[in-house]
Amino acid sequence: MKTDIEIAQTNEAHQMWPITQVAQGLHIPLDDLELYGKYKAKIAARAITRLKNNRPGKLILITAMNPTPAGEGKSTVMIGLADALHHLQQNVMVAMREPSLGPVMGIKGGAAGGGYAQVVPMEDINLHFTGDLHALTCAINTLSALIDNHIQHGNQLNLDPRKITWQRALDVNDRALRNVVIGLGGPSSGVVRQEHFQITVASELMAVLCLATDQTDLKQRIGQILIGYTYEDQPIFVKDLQAQGALTLILKDALKPNLVQTLEHTPVLIHGGPFANIAHGCNSIIATNLALHLSDYTLTEAGFGADLGAEKFLDIVTPHLEQTPEAVVVVATVRALKYHGGQPLDQISQPNTSAIQSGFRNLQRHLINLQKYQVPVIVAINQFTSDTPAEIQLVQQLCQEMGINAYPVTVHDDGGVGALNLAQALIDLPNKADWQPLYAPEAAIEDKINRIATEIYGARRVVYSNTARKQLQNLQKRHWDQLPICIAKTQYSFSDDPHLLGAPDNFDLHVENISPNLGAGFLVVRTGNILTMPGLPTHPAALQMDIDAAGTIKGLF
Ligand code: ADP
Repeated sequence: MKTDIEIAQTNEAHQMWPITQVAQGLHIPLDDLELYGKYKAKIAARAITRLKNNRPGKLILITAMNPTPAGEGKSTVMIGLADALHHLQQNVMVAMREPSLGPVMGIKGGAAGGGYAQVVPMEDINLHFTGDLHALTCAINTLSALIDNHIQHGNQLNLDPRKITWQRALDVNDRALRNVVIGLGGPSSGVVRQEHFQITVASELMAVLCLATDQTDLKQRIGQILIGYTYEDQPIFVKDLQAQGALTLILKDALKPNLVQTLEHTPVLIHGGPFANIAHGCNSIIATNLALHLSDYTLTEAGFGADLGAEKFLDIVTPHLEQTPEAVVVVATVRALKYHGGQPLDQISQPNTSAIQSGFRNLQRHLINLQKYQVPVIVAINQFTSDTPAEIQLVQQLCQEMGINAYPVTVHDDGGVGALNLAQALIDLPNKADWQPLYAPEAAIEDKINRIATEIYGARRVVYSNTARKQLQNLQKRHWDQLPICIAKTQYSFSDDPHLLGAPDNFDLHVENISPNLGAGFLVVRTGNILTMPGLPTHPAALQMDIDAAGTIKGLF
């Protein structure tokens, strides 16, 4: 089997179409495209405004059980499923996130699908693409520079340097920047203070870009971002610094969604890329709404397992969309079921039906959780070559016992034809969806956290650190409590301990920190030891990567 990059670069079956041709199929005039080379284009804001008159199509959410560290193929299945709907003559689009260079260079390799279910040009998408993440990094750090400059030149706002909440960012996994001291070098080099870098995709500004409905909304949300407190504990916002105009300007192109295609020419919008463990995990509202107006089926993905991405999609993002989801597809793999059933990671390719039986608890809890949102649920079994027919059949049977249909898909090896049954099942689905959020945003903060912890994660109770308790009081005092909750938690477990696999239920969820993201419009609740600046592993993926003199890329998965 060829690697993802070899398939994407040789693409023997299908040549990439010029992006103008893909746009033509969507009836987007050339004038509304901003071309980034031959195979990528941004879509102009005027087209987005005009297309709002089109009736929105159906929205399908793709999520997954808790993954193994390699990922369970959510993007791969979503892309293959879109190609399958395309095969069945459906008018379909994908709206998905842009990969962050941190994990691309770290543990995960590419994030534009895999095998014959990929979005291309994958090397561009996985590297700098159209520069949106760099623009975000620049805007985040410009704000930091403006804050420090304000303090340097008289500090009229009376900002307490010890209480600045805004953090610098880079799109790199760099643990050495988690805790640093800036401003060293004497009076002409600024005021000395602690700084804590985040990865760009965890910054509130990424969430703001993804939740903004247009440029006016973006500017307004940026103005609302809390940057810190004065010596008298008064909050200071971006608008107090008058920086919202410049930051919106830096993001003017990043706000436009990017059009690309799958290997089988299905149109894809890639826009925004917050992580789902330390941020809200869904692509931009602008891209999803645009896809809804351009197609009959929009497929979108929420990061990691359904406890993280799907919960946030259904409770934070859905209220902003022009269509609520018609169905949820949960991606499961035989190997992840075995992993949750206690099979060691280095043996998950070996057949073991009893590990599947016991690991099914993990998938089962996700399925029960998702049914609480009153949206029909289907399972996609992403097949690996090591899966045996008996293992696949067992997963289907266990799902069937819950009244849920499960379809094996082979899109990684076969492209769209590998998911025709699943695609047909989606087409045949009766209109039964009646989306309900898990909690009302107006509820008390502790009640909202408690509902997610007990009803989605299966926790026994929530335990708050002293810092989190003080923060709770601060949020209530300032009336910043009526916002949805964005939990930062490990992706490997329902709990805040990555080693508790399966479906644990006798555990406490430890809330360490609660911070208001007033521009994004949610409260970030950090649990366990989760960090917003990841580190690189012992053997980073970057060390396998290369490009030769002829431009052939290796190691980008
Ligand atoms: P996720 O979206 O869940 O993180 P991805 O779709 O990005 O996962 O897939 C992670 C990696 O696994 C990719 O490199 C992809 O090529 C590989 N992969 C996915 N599905 C399969 C499969 N069925 N067989 C072999 N490799 C697969």
